[in-house]
Amino acid sequence: WKNLPPSLRSVVEASRAHGERVFLVYEDERVTFEAFYRAVSAFARELAAQGVGKGDRVAVIMRNLPEWVVAFYAAASLGAVITPLNAWWTGPELEYGLTDSGAKVAIVDAERYQRLSQHLSNCPGLVRVYVSREAEEIAHPWVAKLESVLGSANDWGRLPDQPLPPAEVGPEDDATIFYTSGTTGKPKGALATQRAVNSNIMTAAAAGARGFLRRGEAPPAPDPSAPQRSSLISVPFFHVTGCFAVLNPSLFSGAKLVMMYRWDVVRAFELIEREKIQSAGGVPTIAWQLIEHPARANYDLSSLEAVAYGGAPSAPELVRRIRETFPKSQPGQGWGMTETCATVTSNSAEDYINRPDSCGPAAAVAELQIRDAADGVTVLPAGEVGELWSKGPMNCKLYWNKPEATAQTFVDGWVRTGDLAKLDEEGFCFIIDRAKDMLIRGGENIYCVEVENVLYDHPAVMDAAVVGIPHRTLGEEPAAVVTLKPGAEATEAELRAHVAERLAAFKVPVQIRFWHETLPRNANGKILKNELKKLFEDAPASA
Ligand code: ATP
Ligand code: MG
Repeated sequence: WKNLPPSLRSVVEASRAHGERVFLVYEDERVTFEAFYRAVSAFARELAAQGVGKGDRVAVIMRNLPEWVVAFYAAASLGAVITPLNAWWTGPELEYGLTDSGAKVAIVDAERYQRLSQHLSNCPGLVRVYVSREAEEIAHPWVAKLESVLGSANDWGRLPDQPLPPAEVGPEDDATIFYTSGTTGKPKGALATQRAVNSNIMTAAAAGARGFLRRGEAPPAPDPSAPQRSSLISVPFFHVTGCFAVLNPSLFSGAKLVMMYRWDVVRAFELIEREKIQSAGGVPTIAWQLIEHPARANYDLSSLEAVAYGGAPSAPELVRRIRETFPKSQPGQGWGMTETCATVTSNSAEDYINRPDSCGPAAAVAELQIRDAADGVTVLPAGEVGELWSKGPMNCKLYWNKPEATAQTFVDGWVRTGDLAKLDEEGFCFIIDRAKDMLIRGGENIYCVEVENVLYDHPAVMDAAVVGIPHRTLGEEPAAVVTLKPGAEATEAELRAHVAERLAAFKVPVQIRFWHETLPRNANGKILKNELKKLFEDAPASA
């Protein structure tokens, strides 16, 4: 992995070779690779003129817009540390992200500006804010409209033809701070180097060939007359799945990237048909919606060749359903985390069909170990469940401002993942649960996912989450929150009986609560279990 492109700056430089091919599509805006390069160069010059240089944090806080991508690569080209913040965060949460990272500049969209404007004066390091797509005039002395620098996206091709401003950016320089989802606590900013980010791009480029090599077959030769590849991005850029698993590889490989203002499955069908999209997915929930929505029948989705996802557990059944629904399309899934710059393992095509419950083997440059979850040292043999540890050039360096959490997670080049998993003899990884998503009832381990899968098998259940609730003598007991399918009925007793028929008695939820909407999830499609636990706080503890 010493031969990676040295920096994101070099990825931008190289991408210009794709010229007049379309890179970004958003509503009626189409940005070619050349126009994108010009916008990146213009905005990098603007940032440099404001004093942004190597190591300065630049926050990007927007929905998926073409400006997000320009801001990201312009800051990257200067060697600044790009700090994307979650566009769903409230004003106080955004203030946390800006002060925690010590951002010098923020690039925000109009909606985020409304949310953030009263908080700006509480962010000491901040000297400049650019607002994109803001209709109103802005009086504030250090807030400017992004359009005053770049104009609108459809005009970026007419920006001056000028190179990126000079900057020395090398592989060991800090590149990004992405915040973890905050599923298990307050989000932590994981710092990645240029090398880490680029090794992810290279891993994506090599993933297709790897399955063939494993089976001792030659990968098919690239067809130079093949049409440009295109992907639908349905997950936010501000998490590593969107940015590292989709955006960066698209820029690198010259693929077209079609964006959506917000996820809407019918709109996704329209775009797949109109833009002849080959690859869609993101998180498992989105794959399910593509399969199950009745409007699917009204669209020509024959261009789809890949439906891939990661970032959250997915049912093995999804593999079969994708193949039945989109016969030309290969299912794929990957495992990764913010701390590993997205994808470490991936499973697709025949390998995935044969092992639909595996997230695949590690990327060629990475290494996995299963260690005793309690001591964190003893390496367990194939087939045994323990905590997953991951090593490779894509690993982050540290958590920003959090030395204690850093020392617990980043150990001798390894990331301690907090996931429970096993490896088979061939190195395929099977995620069992999160270490914290397990409860121990009187010494017996209960993996929440196992109980959730049984609840999902009940015909009335649409969504299910199992959490541990405190018990005086047993420590913890399982409880569940369930959403029923529209029009379906089931009682608590019936659901408990359904579980009791299939699992050991100690795994049967002692209480089941019904939730009348979809379960609360974050932008990554992960259920917010801490929220759900609160539902049981007032319940009388069983003796
Ligand atoms: P926080 O660390 O703040 O609690 P988080 O762990 O949800 O949040 P991310 O870095 O976005 O933040 O998610 C990484 C986690 O997502 C992994 O540790 C794992 O639990 C889960 N995950 C990722 N990919 C998969 C997969 N293919 N199958 C099952 N779980 C996955
Ligand atoms: Mg995590």
